[in-house]
Amino acid sequence: MARSISILGASGSVGASTLDLIRRERNKWRVEGLTANGNAKELAKLAREFGARLAVVADETKLPELRDELAGTDTLCAAGRAALCEAAARPVDITVAAIVGCAGLAPVMAAIERGGTVALANKEALVSAGDVMTAAVAQHGATLLPVDSEHNAIFQCLQGNRVEDVARITLTASGGPFRTWSYEQLAAATPAQAVAHPNWDMGAKISVDSATMMNKGLEYIEAHHLFPVGLDRLRIIIHPQSVVHSMVEYCDHSTLAQLGPSDMRVPIASCLAWPQRMDTPMAPLDLAAIEELTFYAPDEQRFPATRLAREAIEAGAGAPATLNAANEVAVSAFLSGQIAFTSIVAVVESTLSRYSAPAPASLDDVLGVDQEARALANEMLEHA
Ligand code: NDP
Repeated sequence: MARSISILGASGSVGASTLDLIRRERNKWRVEGLTANGNAKELAKLAREFGARLAVVADETKLPELRDELAGTDTLCAAGRAALCEAAARPVDITVAAIVGCAGLAPVMAAIERGGTVALANKEALVSAGDVMTAAVAQHGATLLPVDSEHNAIFQCLQGNRVEDVARITLTASGGPFRTWSYEQLAAATPAQAVAHPNWDMGAKISVDSATMMNKGLEYIEAHHLFPVGLDRLRIIIHPQSVVHSMVEYCDHSTLAQLGPSDMRVPIASCLAWPQRMDTPMAPLDLAAIEELTFYAPDEQRFPATRLAREAIEAGAGAPATLNAANEVAVSAFLSGQIAFTSIVAVVESTLSRYSAPAPASLDDVLGVDQEARALANEMLEHA
């Protein structure tokens, strides 16, 4: 029988990679819901191709366009934040959560509260909601499968082992496009340079996060929630080739690593087929052609984002949600040419130092902290 799937953020990079895998096994899948923010044209094109039952745009002004584009099909069209959550709450075998930013949090929580299986790419949602999300997963018997390549690697390396036996989890980081740049060069980096990642083809926001290393900071917090081994057992290492996606070392000093091409279709396939495996169109890994795998300690002088993330998760309460919200505001300001590259992390740091956000106990609390932090970060932009 065909398995059913909904993809939140279908028009984005992770959405496209997911749909590429579905396209190759068309008869094995039934597409329930597809969502986008404002890109009604692309969403409609995908909904037509995959015969989606429901298509939702978050931006309500785009609903007429979506309806026009889908005229004559059986796809239901809807718009707005509530419709996104309703789409996420529809019963399906798997929901892929691939909206970018905290905007994806309420839909992810709706999928979790249904007790479904959620393949989570939307790391900002878990970073912001933290314990609120993991508690909801436990309460509703949901299953969270990590899409992020590092967390997917760790998830795979943990299979058949006990978390109690873990000595250390190592998240690998490519170091991004500016790994070898001086501070002066970083200060003059342009948006076009920042989004040109050497190994991965991704959406603009995560590409900038990779360039500042905030992506690894967010992933550090994400790993803390997904794999609760304690912060002292989590570390980050730079690995420019992005072949080793992360590692788990056990108490006997045996280290398991997951290797693969730097293409999101590999970790996405691992989630879609879990606990089995499915084919992907990737070429087999050719280590002889790659020749060398190298590893370095991170440089937190030039890239302080990982330090900020570590401090935020150590501080707890609303600090991770504040870090995430300020980063979203600052990245968007950088992409629109408002601030310098090096001001992104500076805005996050000054927002964190000015706001002691309370510990959120509910989704509404998290969204409240997110709003407060955004307002403050917007003020910080003036001084950046
Ligand atoms: P993209 O920018 O490519 O796509 C984002 C998707 O989210 C689009 O469908 C977009 O719709 C939708 N969206 C944006 N804003 C909103 C909003 N306010 N409300 C509802 N929907 C919205 O991002 P990526 O695919 O690169 O990343 C998605 C998530 O996956 C991020 O959290 C990222 O960190 C994570 N991730 C991505 C990886 C990658 O390789 N790309 C790797 C690992 C994790 P529209 O097209 O209409 O704007």
